Amino acid sequence: MLLLNPGPVSLSERVRRSLLQPDLCHRESEFYDLQDEARERLLAVYGLDRAEWAAVLITASGTAAVESMIASLTPGEGRLLNLENGVYGERIAQICKQYGIAHERLSAGWTLPLDLDAVAARLDGASPSARFTHIAVVHHETTTGRLNDLERLGELCRRRGAHLLVDGVSSFGAEAIDFGDESLSAVAATANKCLHGVPGVSFVIARRGALHQAAARAFYLDLGRLASLQDRRDTPFTPAVHAHYALVEALREFAEQGGQPARHRRYAALAEQVRGGLAALGIETVVPPEQSSVVLRSYRLPPGMAYASLHDALKAHGFVIYAGQGELARTLFRISTMGQLSSDDIDRLLQCIAQALS
Ligand SMILES: *Cc1c(COP(=O)(O)O)cnc(C)c1O
Repeated sequence: MLLLNPGPVSLSERVRRSLLQPDLCHRESEFYDLQDEARERLLAVYGLDRAEWAAVLITASGTAAVESMIASLTPGEGRLLNLENGVYGERIAQICKQYGIAHERLSAGWTLPLDLDAVAARLDGASPSARFTHIAVVHHETTTGRLNDLERLGELCRRRGAHLLVDGVSSFGAEAIDFGDESLSAVAATANKCLHGVPGVSFVIARRGALHQAAARAFYLDLGRLASLQDRRDTPFTPAVHAHYALVEALREFAEQGGQPARHRRYAALAEQVRGGLAALGIETVVPPEQSSVVLRSYRLPPGMAYASLHDALKAHGFVIYAGQGELARTLFRISTMGQLSSDDIDRLLQCIAQALS
């Protein structure tokens, strides 16, 4: 079965085999070697200096990394402006509400770009006592495949001294992220999307300065504690040891294949192959390609075709595609190009879609 859903991804044989390494006690030096290597290689994905940044590992899915980042890095006295244009942006607002974090929401429609002029107006319009210290944003909004403009947003934050907290769960490793932007405080992500590991371990890449001021709102997800223990080759709880094996092997493979620029090129070629092939069948993208990620794109369901029949026809041929969320479930389908996929696989997929349509 080839997985074209946005994670978990189809694994390479090499990563799959890495799961079969020796059993480890997580309190022995062998595990801490693995933990150290994962943390170092995660920083290396974007060439980050370990004096300035820390990769903090969390045994849980990507949402936990986002939750840990929001709950820990918005200071007690902080105030967060949450930017939303999809399911994952809305999830951050739910997290803020759950933890009682002072926040406001700025929403665009799910298929629309963020209105950055409105963001600037909101930041500038806040009274001095209700100034926004932090902005949360989803980099790649997987709901539609839209890539939100971090560069312009960062510039806007820098001018106003606001800090950016980024859900990079479905972009980390594939899309460009400018960690040189001083407004950027942290990016949350996971092993089983663009890095091609298995589910079970996620992480936050955080500025050390931000970690030093972290709030202890959460218990298991207390990012400050996780960071300081991991820095001392320690861990508070039992980590998903096997998922760490796979993450390290996936990161070795990632580096050997040429790192983030190479992964971006590979996904871009596959995503364009899908787009071109579907356009020839009369199927259009929901978000213009130049505003989309290379990781996942959403397409309009052909008139008269229900998602379930397309899904089932493709699954019978070994492809798992992904439905739209919420209201979008009736009008679109999504295809991700993450994981161990080749251009021949996409050719076969396109043939199967053509067959399902006829
Ligand atoms: C996948 C994803 C998540 C996290 O999902 P989990 O199921 O918790 O791994 C968060 N944000 C975005 C943008 C995602 O694509």
